[in-house]
Amino acid sequence: MPRAIVIRSLDEPTATGAINTAAVEDIDIAMLGDDDVLIEVHYSDLNYKDGLALTGKPGIVRSTPLIGGADLVGTVVESASPAWNPGDEVILNGIGMSETRHGGFCELARVPAGSLVKLPSAFTQAQAAAIGTAGYTAALCVLRLMREGIDASYPVVVTGATGGVGSIAVAMLDAAHCPVAAVTGRADHYGDYLRELGAGQIIDRAEFLGQGKPLQQARWAGGIDTVGGEMLANLLAQTRYGGTVAACGLAGSPSLPATVMPFILRNVTLAGIDSVHTPLIQRQAAWEFLAATLPLDRLESATLTVSLDDAIPAAHRLMNGQAHGRIVVDIRASTSVA
Ligand code: NDP
Repeated sequence: MPRAIVIRSLDEPTATGAINTAAVEDIDIAMLGDDDVLIEVHYSDLNYKDGLALTGKPGIVRSTPLIGGADLVGTVVESASPAWNPGDEVILNGIGMSETRHGGFCELARVPAGSLVKLPSAFTQAQAAAIGTAGYTAALCVLRLMREGIDASYPVVVTGATGGVGSIAVAMLDAAHCPVAAVTGRADHYGDYLRELGAGQIIDRAEFLGQGKPLQQARWAGGIDTVGGEMLANLLAQTRYGGTVAACGLAGSPSLPATVMPFILRNVTLAGIDSVHTPLIQRQAAWEFLAATLPLDRLESATLTVSLDDAIPAAHRLMNGQAHGRIVVDIRASTSVA
């Protein structure tokens, strides 16, 4: 019987607001469903949404019992689709895993053939998991900024910079020769880390909080925002004429207390980024871009690996702001590899 992290509903919310509980269990293989490709999962990883799901917070898991894990990387065991053969190495991100369909925190997964991406030859399976939804989302953001045009004489600002999306966005932008300003609440602890990733400038998160003027000094060629709220509003107000801000997250707030001034007076574009329902062709393009540009040595220094048993405590650390960079889950490791 495969081992999995299964999320189940609680009868009553806990004092901390958890509505679900998560535990490692041996599951019946029938639980995996009947999608056309059976994968032996070797790695998954912890994203912000996995942190929410594994700590039982509302908003992510919409059907229980559910195997958690928004990402998986592994090898095809059986395929009813001609697109894939046993032995193929594949990546799957999003598509509702850990929301409404079973995900990657399990030794086996049954998944739809049409959402899988071939593992690029540039990456091992462990490296692809270290990238995960965070890196793939960072790639979607950087590609979007590039499509809209980046004036590389000014910095691109990245918020939530020590997080998974932020860390990889900083490294990719620097590799693409864009100057990067990293906004973080943890400059004291992680200043060196962010400089090693490629940040030329490190800015305290506090500078972006509070309600600012609708238009402020135009400093940024563009931005990648993982935080939302006042941070995103101030970032828009500081973006230069014609710049683009890619908004992908809400680590601070889902609100947007902004005005239309940056849009109508500075021609600023606010670009929404979703990684869950991205069409396959864009997923493939993002992974190809990662393979071509991501400096793997910097990814390594940003990655911690844990076993399936240690993934739940690691999720609590992520939600308590005690983690940075990326956390890979080695599904077959029997003990802690942290
Ligand atoms: P992480 O938990 O790895 O990083 C989030 C970072 O945000 C933290 O490291 C911290 O960075 C910053 N942060 C946390 N809390 C606050 C706060 N209250 N105010 C301001 N900053 C805060 O998460 P991920 O990188 O995996 O994800 C980031 C966001 O992007 C999440 O909201 C996630 O849901 C979203 N996301 C969206 C996707 C999409 O498809 N649109 C896909 C992937 C992620 P620091 O300490 O450096 O300030």
